[in-house]
This record gives sequence, C-alpha cells and structure tokens, in this order.
Amino acid sequence: MEPATFVLFGATGDLAKRKIYPALYQLYIDQKLPSSFSFIGLGRRELTHTSFQANVEKSLLTFSRSDVKDAVRIKKFLNSFQYHVLDVDRKEDYTKLLKLVEDREAELNIMPNRMFYLSVGPEFFETIATNIHESGLGSASGWKRLVIEKPFGHDLESARQLNHTLNQAFDESDIYRIDHYLGKPMVQQMGQLLQSTLTEQDLRTRTIASVQISAIETLGVEERAGYYDHAGAIRDMFQNHMLQLLMMLTIEFPKRSSADEVVNLKSKIMKSLMPLNKIDVTQHVVRGQYASGVIKEEQVVGYTDEAGIALGSHNDTFIAARLRVDDPFWKDTPIYIRTGKRLKEKVTRIVIEFTSEGPVKDLLTIEIGPDEGITFLKSRSDLAFSDVETSLRSQLSFTKKEVNVKDAYETLIHDALLGDKTYFAHWNEVELSWEWVQPILDAYQDNLIPLHIYPAGTYGPQEANELLMKDGFHWWFDNRNASDNDATKGEFNIYEYTN
Ligand code: NAD
Repeated sequence: MEPATFVLFGATGDLAKRKIYPALYQLYIDQKLPSSFSFIGLGRRELTHTSFQANVEKSLLTFSRSDVKDAVRIKKFLNSFQYHVLDVDRKEDYTKLLKLVEDREAELNIMPNRMFYLSVGPEFFETIATNIHESGLGSASGWKRLVIEKPFGHDLESARQLNHTLNQAFDESDIYRIDHYLGKPMVQQMGQLLQSTLTEQDLRTRTIASVQISAIETLGVEERAGYYDHAGAIRDMFQNHMLQLLMMLTIEFPKRSSADEVVNLKSKIMKSLMPLNKIDVTQHVVRGQYASGVIKEEQVVGYTDEAGIALGSHNDTFIAARLRVDDPFWKDTPIYIRTGKRLKEKVTRIVIEFTSEGPVKDLLTIEIGPDEGITFLKSRSDLAFSDVETSLRSQLSFTKKEVNVKDAYETLIHDALLGDKTYFAHWNEVELSWEWVQPILDAYQDNLIPLHIYPAGTYGPQEANELLMKDGFHWWFDNRNASDNDATKGEFNIYEYTN
C-alpha cells in the first residue's frame, strides 16, 4: 500500500472515537496500514499532540475489538497521530494545515497522497471540499481522496446541489461515499455464499416468489432527536442502507457479479425499479410512528414524548414498501422492504421465498446482523406463531455469532486507502435512489399517506402486514421469541468463514 496522509475533519467527534480510531488500530495490528503513515486530526478545540494521542488511546481502550495492552505497540501506533486546530470556515486554517501536511510528508519522506475524511455534519461538506481545493491541499502530485458519510443530501435537489459542489473540488473517482452497510462482512460475501448455495442446491431453476428485506431495531431516537426528527426512517435508513441491500442482493441473480461489474449493475437495477408517483404511493408504502409500549419488559415512551422531538411531530419512525424491479429476472417478484425503530427485536435479515405448492415453503435466509448466516430451510406458513417450526432441509448453512466480527469501518477505510471503490456508494446510485424516493417524500409532505401509530415493542403497524397479505405473503419469523430465533440458524457450519 502506498504511503499516505490521513486528514480527519471532526477528530474529536463521536464517530471518530467509536469507529475510526478503533478501525485504524485494527488495520495497524493486521499490518494493513501503509508502512509510512501520517495522521492529522482536526478540531476546533485547542489540544496538544500528546493530549490528542491520549484521547485516541482512551477510545481504543473503550471500543477496540483487539487487546490494547501492549504499551510499545500502542505508542508506535499513536506516534503517527498529530493534531491541528481548524475551523471549517476559516480559510487561513487550511493554509496552515497545508504547511503542516507538507512538513510531515517531508519529514517522513512520503509522496503527497492525501485522504480527507469528513467526519463532521453534512452541512460542512461543501465548505470543506471547496477550501481543500482553494488552499492547494488537493493540488499535490499524489492521489487525493474525499471520504464522506451519509446523509448525502436531504432530497433529490439538495443531493444534486451537494454533488455539484463536491465535483468542483473532487472527481467522482476520488469521492468515497460511505454507506457502512456495504462494509458489513455478510453483505460483501453474500454473492459468493449465495452462489455456493444456489449451485449446490440447483436452486437457479426455481422461481423466487418474493423477497423480504428487514432492518429493524429496538432502540428509539436516543440522542439524535435534532437530526432524526427531520430525517425520519425514510432518509435515515430507506433511501440509503435499505436500497443498497436491495441492489447488492438483486445484482447477484441470476448469476454472480464480479467486483468490476458492481457499479454498473447497481445503477441498472435502480433504473429498473418501477417508479411510484405521489398519488399511487399509498398502495405501496406504509408510514408509521411508534407510540409508548413495552420492550424487553421495560416501558418506553412514544416518539412525540421523546426529548427534543417536536410536539405533534408527523415524522416517520417506520416504513414498509413494496417494490418491483422491471427486468426479465425480477419482474414477477415483489420485493418488500421495512425498517423501523422501537420494534420487537433487532435484526437485519433478507428472506427469499421460493415458489412452492402447499403450506411448506422453501426459504433462503440471509442474516446480516447482529449475527451473520445463510441458511436454507423449509418452513410451514400455516402454523400458529409459537409453533412456527423450521427444520433444516439440508446441512447447507453458515452461521457466525456476533463475537469479534470485523467492523465495517475497518474494511471501508482499508479499501479507501487502497483506492478500491467497490463497496462505496457511487453518485449514480445515490441520485437514482433519491429519484425513486422523492415521490414518497412529496406524498409525506402533503400528508397523502396516513401516519399509522404502532405500539413500541411490536413489528410496526398492522398495515405493514396487510401490504403483504394482499399478495398472499407474510413477514417471516416475526412472531418467534428469542429462543425460536436460534432454531433458524442451523447447526452445521459447512463454510469456514474467515476475514
Ligand atoms: P459529532 O457532533 O460527535 O462530531 C462532529 C465533529 O465536527 C467534532 O469533532 C466537532 O469538533 C467538529 N466540528 C463541528 N463544527 C466544526 C467547525 N465549525 N469547524 C471544525 N470542526 C467542527 O458528530 P459525529 O457523530 O461524529 O458524526 C460525524 C458525521 O458522521 C456526521 O455527518 C454524521 O451524520 C455521520 N455519522 C455518524 C455516525 C455515528 O455513529 N456517530 C454514524 C454514521 C454517520
């Protein structure tokens, strides 16, 4: 890997502490960082290099998945870290930063390869990119890369505006948009695992009756009220993570995609998504908001009683939608997506239901989190909930419990340093996703879609069940309790899963 300078805007922030420093440390342990590596953290607060390094060390002690006991190793890692005060609006701060970056490059005798990671609010993206450009920070002879986190805009128009400004300073090929779902090990290996499963079982000849993609959680709005009350489930999860999962799954059928094909195929799928219009949205989308209820035997308040949420807020904390991909392979298969807060359990899962006669259904389940697994099973859809029985039809299963799973940020930061954009969101996908979602945003805005209130601790509004029932389907596995859940995972690990 080429030597590089990693410039982190927002070095004192939450994301840096919880994700970026632990990921860098893990890469360091795994010998996946460049041998000459300069790290410059930026923030508004005055900090010495030493106290900054002490803060980074503290975050490793709290969040690293590896042992942080080897003092010599830690010290060597932290030696690469420097700190610099910068206010994103002050142009002179960028000039000073340029000098610091250049001095460090000269000291380490490294090429001016520079990665600018913007771990700050999206309202700063345009200012920072412009100032990087105008200060000359981005004009050196080495490579330059810009890493940004979602949200990429608030709607179609603002996303286009943001992208237009970023493109004045960085080419699309230099922009790395993180959607951390794309960094999850299971999402990255899904294609390979599906391919093994499908080939061995000769499933390719089968017809897929429906696909369900759920990313549900028990948490409420937590500390993020200010952001979430303006974003809702549709912007926070659906437009990005959920549509990315849909793209990653659908491009694997009917045959596996190579890494090079990924960007083109994802855009092709998004272009094939049958568009909704503001009026018929009601037929395909269910909007919900949680009321008070009980989760894990604890009483929780309703959304509008949460601290920081506007009284009478109409914001969505749940969305379920039926989508259709108009291409030869998927045209007869409804794809159901749902995501929401304060639901009965935390799980991210894809269920592929195959066409079969009678009550016994063949299902391929892909567990993405918190545990990971691919399992092929038979299930009876007509059994009462506590009896929903899943018996493994074959030994074809792969599972991995949530212990020491590689974090998405490790993979994504490593890929960005290598210049591999396979698992980053390309502008084409982002724009197409906003285009598809915009009529729903418009319908929400004009209140054309009812806001269904659901009790916390359930699986969302009943209307989300009816959305599937109309088509003769139901959400799989909703009614099982925790111990039933384990039954779906299978007992035989036939795939060795290593990262
Ligand atoms: P945060 O508020 O904890 O940190 C923001 C950082 O920006 C701080 O270091 C702060 O000093 C810096 N900052 C703010 N104003 C500044 C200014 N005028 N000049 C210079 N620096 C300034 O936020 P966060 O949670 O770390 O989130 C950072 C970004 O990552 C956001 O875009 C967020 O949407 C995104 N994100 C965060 C998480 C997460 O888990 N925290 C997850 C996904 C995406």
